[in-house]
Amino acid sequence: MGHPLQQTTTAGNNRGEEIEQFDVIIIGAGVTGLYSLYRLRELGLSVQTFEGGGGVGGTWYWNRYPGARFDSESYTYGYSFSKELLQEWDWKELYSGQPENERYLNYVADKFDLRQHIRFNSRVVSAVFDEDEHVWQIHLQDGHQAQAQFFITAVGSLSAYYVPDFEGIDSFQGAWCHTGRWPAEGMDLAGKRVGVIGTGATGVQLITEIAKEVGHLTVFQRTANYCAPLRNRLIDDNMQRQIKASYPEIFKRCNETAGSFMHQFDTRSAMSVSPEERLEQYERLWSEPGFKKWLSNFYDVMMPGEANEDYAEFVRNKIRERVKDPVVAEKLVPKDHLFGSKRLPCESGYYEVFNQANVLLVDVRESPIERITPKGVQTTAAEYDLDVLIFATGYDAVTGSLNRIDIQGEGGQTLRDKFANGPRTYMGISSPGFPNLFTINAASVGNFVRACEPLVDWVSEAICYVREHGFTRISATPEAEVAWTQHVSEAGAKILRTQANSWFVGANIPGKARFLLTSPDTAPVMRAKRAEVAAKGYEGFELS
Ligand SMILES: Cc1cc2nc3c(=O)[nH]c(=O)nc-3n(C[C@H](O)[C@H](O)[C@H](O)COP(=O)(O)OP(=O)(O)OC[C@H]3O[C@@H](n4cnc5c(N)ncnc54)[C@H](O)[C@@H]3O)c2cc1C
Repeated sequence: MGHPLQQTTTAGNNRGEEIEQFDVIIIGAGVTGLYSLYRLRELGLSVQTFEGGGGVGGTWYWNRYPGARFDSESYTYGYSFSKELLQEWDWKELYSGQPENERYLNYVADKFDLRQHIRFNSRVVSAVFDEDEHVWQIHLQDGHQAQAQFFITAVGSLSAYYVPDFEGIDSFQGAWCHTGRWPAEGMDLAGKRVGVIGTGATGVQLITEIAKEVGHLTVFQRTANYCAPLRNRLIDDNMQRQIKASYPEIFKRCNETAGSFMHQFDTRSAMSVSPEERLEQYERLWSEPGFKKWLSNFYDVMMPGEANEDYAEFVRNKIRERVKDPVVAEKLVPKDHLFGSKRLPCESGYYEVFNQANVLLVDVRESPIERITPKGVQTTAAEYDLDVLIFATGYDAVTGSLNRIDIQGEGGQTLRDKFANGPRTYMGISSPGFPNLFTINAASVGNFVRACEPLVDWVSEAICYVREHGFTRISATPEAEVAWTQHVSEAGAKILRTQANSWFVGANIPGKARFLLTSPDTAPVMRAKRAEVAAKGYEGFELS
């Protein structure tokens, strides 16, 4: 049974089959897709969501690896659109783990009766714009088809998991998996010889957790990262009451910050205070939970220069203090990128893992991986025998999940070709030649739900505007695309995020064009910009 406001119709295709028609088709049932579905349905539109996974949650459905948890404070990450939901749901930990996060998103799907509009285990392989009918034709891997006037790709910015193309990978006789496809039934690691490739935010969480049960652990590290203590804890009843009483203030505060986290930079320069005062602040923040040490620090710690290097050295010394073997410690100390140029991995005992007798750190910068063998991993220096191999090798970010779909716009041009040198959009949302397509996954970063809720609201309102004003199409103008792309390139060059070889600029994927994949602007600036565009009748967009 459909939502009372939904009216699904059907049309025939050229093979005489019935094709369901909707106002909007959404790909993805993660936090963005779920909220898009809710919002558009509430506005009276017929909506269908296709999700490749077997359940809701996106990131929190797929990432079942041991140790997977938030780096956002749980209560700042949840949806804000329903006061009832906010009061009903108890976050149990300051930084909640994957099982609980998945439960939360299932709770949301049930509470708002969203499942009836989601087709699970449904991978979209192509989307073709029909220029005569002004509709997107959507094709699924299983042969199913559907069409809609509007098409939203809530396909995730970190969902196209990436396994490096190592020679011999299929010859490995043990079990292997990518952390983003961790099997629901788990991996049998107890007492086994386990190898982990990758020491980014995921690798750090995973390694800390599985080191407690494996027989032997070999960690293959390419880049040492700055990691900071998470200091997770349970939320007690008193804190629970305080959180529930202050949601409006919490969200207001998040909305005022650059990355939509609840942490605000110190307006003082690190170099303007005495060395004692500086160190006192560093230590105080270090003893506090989460991203405070990154985002509540002196403002210039987040800019290339003396303050950034001063704090980087403070963090390096924290690492040195915790690792007993000085040679291993130096391998774990980052020296090739600026502090804060990547999202800060948060840890709960990561460095102590390397004090365990059954843990080996292999620096693959020093001796690169040559191939995967039937028995394990061969580097230029040695072969490491393994029973299980885990790839914590990250994602083909933002454009990866779009490129895995054959999206064809006007004149048969593909989005894959158009984005070959980096996204070519207006505000990440829309690209000329692809009318009524909202690439919503290319436009949100930071504390994710805080950033994606207003974005989804904006897209939903744009869709209503088009329909209410008697138009059939909306897409960014070529001029707006050129100006925005130039802005991303120029403003992006000045921010810390583009200074490291990270997924933010596509540097983790061989052959991927180096280009900032997210907006260079802060969340408040982006919200204001979008509001201005809408207030001016969707300036920079062509409506026809
Ligand atoms: C391990 C990990 C930890 C993270 N921790 C945090 C955190 O603490 N705080 C934070 O703010 N952010 C965090 N993130 C970022 C996280 O991705 C976002 O918070 C958020 O979950 C993204 O939601 P989404 O709905 O946009 O995309 P996703 O959750 O990635 O969902 C996209 C969905 O689209 C589906 N899909 C993609 N392509 C297709 C297709 N062709 N056909 C059908 N379905 C398709 C996928 O199966 C997936 O379910 C983390 C990311 C990872 C990987």
